[in-house]
Amino acid sequence: MQVYRNFIGGEFVQSQGTRRLANTNPANTNDVLGEAILATKAEAAAAVAAAAAAFKSWRRMPAPKRGAIVTKAAQIMSERKAEIARTLTREEGKLLSEAMGEMQRAINIAEFCGAHGRRLNGEVIPLELANNVGYTMKEPVGVAAIITPWNFPAAIPIWKIAPALVAGNTIVFKPASLVPATAELLMQCFVDAGVPAGVLNMVIGSGGEVGNTFVDHPDVRLVSFTGSTDIGLGIYKRAAARGIRAQCEMGGKNPVIVCDDADIDLAVSGVYNGAFGSTGQRCTATSRVIVQHGVADAFLERLLAQVAKMKIGNPLDADVDMGPSVDASQLKTVLDYIDIGKNQGAELLTGGNRITNGDCANGFFVEPTIFDKVRTNMRIHNEEIFGPVLSVIRVESFDEAIEVANQSEFGLTSSIYTRDLSRTFRYIHEIETGITHVNSPTLGGEAQMPFGGMKNTGVGPREQGTEVFDFYTETKAVYIDFTGAKREGKLY
Ligand code: NAP
Repeated sequence: MQVYRNFIGGEFVQSQGTRRLANTNPANTNDVLGEAILATKAEAAAAVAAAAAAFKSWRRMPAPKRGAIVTKAAQIMSERKAEIARTLTREEGKLLSEAMGEMQRAINIAEFCGAHGRRLNGEVIPLELANNVGYTMKEPVGVAAIITPWNFPAAIPIWKIAPALVAGNTIVFKPASLVPATAELLMQCFVDAGVPAGVLNMVIGSGGEVGNTFVDHPDVRLVSFTGSTDIGLGIYKRAAARGIRAQCEMGGKNPVIVCDDADIDLAVSGVYNGAFGSTGQRCTATSRVIVQHGVADAFLERLLAQVAKMKIGNPLDADVDMGPSVDASQLKTVLDYIDIGKNQGAELLTGGNRITNGDCANGFFVEPTIFDKVRTNMRIHNEEIFGPVLSVIRVESFDEAIEVANQSEFGLTSSIYTRDLSRTFRYIHEIETGITHVNSPTLGGEAQMPFGGMKNTGVGPREQGTEVFDFYTETKAVYIDFTGAKREGKLY
């Protein structure tokens, strides 16, 4: 059986830890991919030491050359895309087509960041002082701790690792312990691309041991985290207490508004993909649909018809529409929330059960579930479920729809289906989410666009786009007096 290894100081090394975690296919628990050994605090500290030692020379490598290594890693990921996607599907459970899409997103981001090595510009700024030149330069921060969740095991690590490297930081990376196989394959792509020893390190282990060691280590100068809100806010506070910068992207409860003038078929298709794609385990998943009364029945009739046709099963099969929850614990969370929805008086329209027959007998499968007549004081309206469970909230007016959409502690993404220009722009101005869509699902994001949430979804600067390079760099302001003469007057 494959035992996943840490990558420290340029070597793949087996952990000396004693806790082992089987890496099991969530669609079929008889399929065990390998075994992770959860690393010790000492191993996490060794990775930080390797990253700190490598920083001095990596920061001196010209940014275009650092970018070239990341571009090369993108090429290698592209060549190995199908193989990595297959592993990703086996360990995480999303459809193979979705895993291929995720890999393409990772490749696009790495290409975008690699090219940015040639554009890591400061600017020349006019000064009041005569015969002086003022300019800024972008410098790396130091050792970056990167902590990622299991639900996008390729794209999220890459959207942190790629800009951090191009900016000249060295890295200690902790993938979620549920997805070590994808993480090891990604590390191999960077090794083959020529990343120098110590510049990129990976330690497989629990959040409590490895994650905490990274966040609290005095040599770590920056933390980029994606995961749940409770953990993220805790990490943010600890980073703030040490005075280091942090970026935490966290939970979501993303709404779609379906107006009475919407193209209903378009809305149905967008909500279906948003709610049930990747088994609802996307931070950008649609979990609330807010429908105006006039079209609610027609919308639901067509949505239910589409859900009834859904094929659930092995995510490696091309004709399957939805795979499993990631593990037993996530499945339990989803089933518990379904009970909570029923107990709080929401009307269950479809689904609600674990599936234990046929292709689903040995996996963590749950039916696509829709609750109607959900009210804003219910827990299924307010709390992130992270499964294929959709809440329908019926509203009278457009104004009420916006109010309900914003009634959430989260603010990652959102969408509206309407053909009315005035409503579209009012919505764009009033919605409290970091990303928003019009007449398309709540999903996705392109490499060159910023990605991140408002409110309790995101703290710290946005990821992706060019903005992310501000997070991974320090700005140094430089004044050069080229007269060589003593300056007259008071300096202030
Ligand atoms: P999680 O439980 O918060 O874990 C995220 C990562 O943090 C994992 O690597 C985890 O390690 C680690 N961790 C746990 N406790 C820690 C601690 N005390 N100190 C340092 N690290 C710690 O989240 P998840 O279940 O993996 O992912 C699902 C969540 O991610 C959802 O809430 C989803 O909305 C969110 N998400 C957000 C975005 C976004 O961009 N906003 C994108 C994707 C996912 P172990 O699990 O190995 O212990």
